[in-house]
Amino acid sequence: MQKKSVVIIGAGLGGISTALRLAKQGYSVQILEKNAQAGGRLNQIKKDGFTFDAGPSFFSMSYEFEAFARECNISIPFDFIELDPLYTVHFAGNDKIWQIHKNPQLFAQQFEGIEADFEKKFEAYIAECSSIFHDTIDIVIKHNFSSKFAYFIELAKVNPYHIPKLFRTFWQQVSKHFTSQEARQIISLVAFFLGKTPFDTSSIYTLLSYTEFKHDGYYNVQGGMYQIVIGILRELDKANVNIQYNTEITKVEYIGNKISSVTDKQGITYTADIFVVNADAAVFRGKVLQRKAYSEKKLARKDWTMGYLTFYIGINTTLPQVHHHNYFLGRNYKEYSNHVLEDISTSEKPYYYVNVVSKYNKECAPEGCESLFFVCPVPNLLNKQSWDDAEEIVTGILQDFSKRIGQDIIPLIVSKTICTPANWEQQYNLYKGSGLGLSHAIKQIGGLRPRNYDEVFKNMFYVGASTVPGAGLPMAIISSKLATERVVEYSKKNG
Ligand SMILES: Cc1cc2nc3c(=O)[nH]c(=O)nc-3n(C[C@H](O)[C@H](O)[C@H](O)COP(=O)(O)OP(=O)(O)OC[C@H]3O[C@@H](n4cnc5c(N)ncnc54)[C@H](O)[C@@H]3O)c2cc1C
Repeated sequence: MQKKSVVIIGAGLGGISTALRLAKQGYSVQILEKNAQAGGRLNQIKKDGFTFDAGPSFFSMSYEFEAFARECNISIPFDFIELDPLYTVHFAGNDKIWQIHKNPQLFAQQFEGIEADFEKKFEAYIAECSSIFHDTIDIVIKHNFSSKFAYFIELAKVNPYHIPKLFRTFWQQVSKHFTSQEARQIISLVAFFLGKTPFDTSSIYTLLSYTEFKHDGYYNVQGGMYQIVIGILRELDKANVNIQYNTEITKVEYIGNKISSVTDKQGITYTADIFVVNADAAVFRGKVLQRKAYSEKKLARKDWTMGYLTFYIGINTTLPQVHHHNYFLGRNYKEYSNHVLEDISTSEKPYYYVNVVSKYNKECAPEGCESLFFVCPVPNLLNKQSWDDAEEIVTGILQDFSKRIGQDIIPLIVSKTICTPANWEQQYNLYKGSGLGLSHAIKQIGGLRPRNYDEVFKNMFYVGASTVPGAGLPMAIISSKLATERVVEYSKKNG
């Protein structure tokens, strides 16, 4: 029987992992990528002798990568190391460096004299997070739904004990268990990983505390996160998957209810039996397919995650006093959270995250130097259009960082790259520079998220952050499994 051909639009983690799954099942796969290199947001910047992770700097749910490798009949194509401590937290005006450990006793030590009975409270909190995780992961997250109705039928199977959590925020749930501001802030930080704040994220997502502190922890990749992409590309090469770079798809052609080909910016046309879109599932439907339900007006009304101001700094010294993953917080957590999605100018000081990739990956910086990656949550372009002040914000953060680590790094900078939400939008076609795509608001998850099969074209499917299940590296891997199931099901029905 002749192999069915598949064109995948986009070489992000969702696209390349779907490509490998399909190639391993006998499909003939070609990937078309807008940029000159694969990886999408999971990318790498090499400049002035330094190597930086461009986006993700760690991952959780390592077992999803293991399952992916098993299902593709390969060994995991990169080496990963568990982080311990997971990260450090620094509060402004306080010299203490909080070491966040997965080990509950070590973690509890940090709260001595601050939060009475921390360990006992933490155990009770994590037990609740664990039950949310185990009661929803298979039903809501790792599941394809045929319709909204089918989604609600599945939802009805979730233990009704969790219903009140739908009406509580992450912050409220954490506050039920802990009284100190320090415990509440540190434990709710993970809500920012979903692209919103603890004050507008449902308490259902406290399940992330379970994945972070108990179930699996966080992992780094030996040689930097981009090794994930390099490893998968090696496997794609062995499976004869071709990747065409600098190829942005702007048009589709169809016959009846099937796509016959897609066309890039240069007017070159690509045909296949099946098409999988890894470009943002909502943006592609709006901008390329011109769907009314995803018109500019309707896209703007959806709930999008925040933007990120990221910058990549090479310095000609090492920073032994700085850990690998670090959060620098101010003194106004609630006020900051309430403004960060709309207007950072009202915040006392930006909050930021710093990753020192060269700490454990010496090859990422010249000898005696350090590669620093900063992420600062900021409004996306819906709320802040001009980034003329990016340089000024970056300088403010570098001054604050220097003060807090007790070493002025500004005169030691030998490499500097800044990416604003406008750059993120332009580079990866992210809607208004929203870093994680559509938010995980209850109205936009599961059967309510843009589907992973097209509403009109029977041979077009979607994979990645703005379709099911959502954003983050393990979710991209799960998304590739769900999209592959759709493709296989379609192929069976259509010979
Ligand atoms: C700053 C930042 C930090 C992050 N940190 C973490 C982290 O630490 N851990 C974690 O798990 N997750 C993290 N994430 C989230 C994670 O990066 C994403 O959820 C994930 O990489 C998304 O993968 P994807 O395949 O869905 O999409 P993408 O990576 O966006 O891939 C889509 C691809 O499609 C291409 N494309 C778009 N339009 C077209 C077109 N028309 N034609 C052809 N190609 C097209 C794009 O160029 C891109 O390569 C972070 C994200 C950001 C922005």
